[in-house]
Amino acid sequence: MAKKSKLREPVRNWSLRHKILLPFFLILLLLGTVSTGSFVLLITQALQKTANDRLFACQDVIFREIKKQEILLETYTDLIGYAYLISKNDSTSESLVVQQQHLVEKLRNTDISVDFYLADSRDQIPSQSLRDLIDHAARSGQSRFRFATDIGTIPALTVAAPLPGGINPKHVLVLQTPIKPAFLRTHSSGFGVRTSLMSLSGEVISSSETGHNPPVLSRDELEEILTGKQLIRTSSTPRTIKYLFSAIPLGTSELIISVTEIPMTDLNALVNKLTVEGIATLLGFVLLGGIVYYHLLQRQIMRPVERLMHATQAVSRGNLDFHIETSASDELGQVARSFNRMTEQLKTLYSEKIDQETMLASAQEKLRFQNILSGKNRQIEKTNIELTAHVNELSALFDLIQQMLSSLDLDILFGRILQILKDVVPCDEVVLLLYNSETQKLLIRKTLGIDQDTLEGVSFGLDEGITGEVARTWEMIHLRKVHDDQRNLHYKGRNATIGSLLSIPMVVKNELLGIVNLHKNDEGGFSDREIQLVQTVTGQAAMSIENARLYNKTREMSNTDPLTQLANRRHFQDVLEKEIAEARRYSSNFSLIMIDIDHFKRYNDAHGHLQGDVVLQEVAQGLRNNIREIDLAARFGGEEFVILMTKTNKEGARAAAEKLRLAVAEKIFPGAETSQPGGKLTLSLGVAEYPEDSDNATNLLNLADQALYRAKEEGRNRTVAWNSEAPLLPYLSVRPIFKNAD
Ligand code: GH3
Ligand code: MG
Ligand code: MG
Repeated sequence: MAKKSKLREPVRNWSLRHKILLPFFLILLLLGTVSTGSFVLLITQALQKTANDRLFACQDVIFREIKKQEILLETYTDLIGYAYLISKNDSTSESLVVQQQHLVEKLRNTDISVDFYLADSRDQIPSQSLRDLIDHAARSGQSRFRFATDIGTIPALTVAAPLPGGINPKHVLVLQTPIKPAFLRTHSSGFGVRTSLMSLSGEVISSSETGHNPPVLSRDELEEILTGKQLIRTSSTPRTIKYLFSAIPLGTSELIISVTEIPMTDLNALVNKLTVEGIATLLGFVLLGGIVYYHLLQRQIMRPVERLMHATQAVSRGNLDFHIETSASDELGQVARSFNRMTEQLKTLYSEKIDQETMLASAQEKLRFQNILSGKNRQIEKTNIELTAHVNELSALFDLIQQMLSSLDLDILFGRILQILKDVVPCDEVVLLLYNSETQKLLIRKTLGIDQDTLEGVSFGLDEGITGEVARTWEMIHLRKVHDDQRNLHYKGRNATIGSLLSIPMVVKNELLGIVNLHKNDEGGFSDREIQLVQTVTGQAAMSIENARLYNKTREMSNTDPLTQLANRRHFQDVLEKEIAEARRYSSNFSLIMIDIDHFKRYNDAHGHLQGDVVLQEVAQGLRNNIREIDLAARFGGEEFVILMTKTNKEGARAAAEKLRLAVAEKIFPGAETSQPGGKLTLSLGVAEYPEDSDNATNLLNLADQALYRAKEEGRNRTVAWNSEAPLLPYLSVRPIFKNAD
């Protein structure tokens, strides 16, 4: 089956033209070949038959002509014999003898030789062959025929007849008529054949054409001929020649073989010529027939089929307006008309289909729209519910954060911010950096999850790392794989951060406060919700930081003396109270140094209050510069100052007071040389220690003041430490400067 379909496959792919034309030409060629073959065969057979007929006809003529000669010779023999007999018996008939001689003469003139021989006088007979013939005739008493060449010079038909009369010695009459090539030619040329006469020994006696020998016959063939059969033989070398052998009886006992031959080469050439002409004619007809057929096929079948094909292709491409023009009433015309009807129907169906599809599409669109709408509604409902929950959650969180971030103490606030962030968004490390707009640096202020000491003092410029970039751009950065990012500086190598990072800027009133960095050890990163939460918290945190800063600034201002920028007396007393509480708790000590400018009234009087104010500011600056950071200097009132020195005993405080005194004494104040005694602006200082001198704030201040006035008393520009053993100065008992709060 597979093989069959394999063979069919290429045929199936042929064009219609090939499918029709090729079998047609094959059949035409087959028919042509068969008819040409038959034609050639017929011609060959006809020519063969003609050749045979000519051979047989010629042979027949030769046979009859020789027989005629034989009868003629026999007749003449009888005639002469009778004349001889009569003259023998009747010696009177002289005229008969004359007549006889006359006949003999006449015969000799017509090429027939007439001779009389005595059978016994063999010596007078010219040849052996003739002697044998005469002998045979004499002994048998009957005529004997022979065809031989050795009797005369020319091959001749010879008859030997014993003369009647019974005389001894016997007379034998011999008549010879020559069978010349011309004789044979005359009777064979009309048939277009050659003729030869042959003896039984195969020797050619006479031939219509010289120089030619027929083939030698075998013994069997000879015997066959002798039985009276005619034998046809064909020799092919040097030329194809057909021979007809046949025996011709001479008299009663002799035989001669006639050979008629016809050259077949010419016939074969004729057959070939006819074959070529036949094939050429056939091809011509095939070609002509093919052209006519092709033309008809093209016009009547192929073109309508092609039109039909184009039409079907056009329709398959969707061109339903295609119409086939046809007037033919044959099958193709009917198909074309059916096709036109079909396209019309298709067109109607197609337009109906389009209408229905349009309707369907609009219905589907409507349905899709409805589905989308209901989907959107559901989505909106869901989002609303989620949003409400989220808002509730956020507002709760917001309240909580607000509560937590209500602290005005920055350190506490920072701690809380980090804690809230870590609680709200699960993460491993949180770092808060504050921005200093003067230095343009970000300094680590608070950490959670990392030991703060390891990051102590780490700061970033605006061009450093991720933190710097966030501070510069005010845009958050979220990295899922922090170690892949070249910008990550790992807090300048202090903490090899891994996992993910969220860095968020804190901006308030168009001012950058700082950055919050959240780290996760895994690389999952932060979800959108987490980022949103962090942003909410940091936004809130930034506002809280800003609030706390404002508050602290205000509070600082209310605690500060506006002229000298030192702490004012109220703030000093608050700090003193706290210090006493602390010292009590930790059983530690501290000292107070009370300071008064010597003869300041004089300076004011000499240089005016404004210049006096400048001196106050410079003295305050001198104090600030010469105390420790943990100590507190305050303006106590007028031109009096007080210093609280934590964890310092009286001796230490005294040394510190001396240092202050010398610092001011060494300073040059404009105009002091004229207004001040000694030409210098000097200080008097009094020192008292907690709890050694007193554990009461007011009392301690009073004691320091007492020591100060003792210094005044002792000549000013000096330090005096309170000594309980020294007598109280009289004016103190009159005017105590401080009232004990207790
Ligand atoms: P001493 O203390 O050495 O006994 O002499 P004194 O001249 O300094 O005397 P006292 O302490 O009684 O005088 C205080 C003077 O300080 C009075 C006043 O003119 C001046 N004074 C007080 N407060 C201010 C102030 O705020 N500005 C200026 N320019 N002077 C002030
Ligand atoms: Mg004073
Ligand atoms: Mg004074």
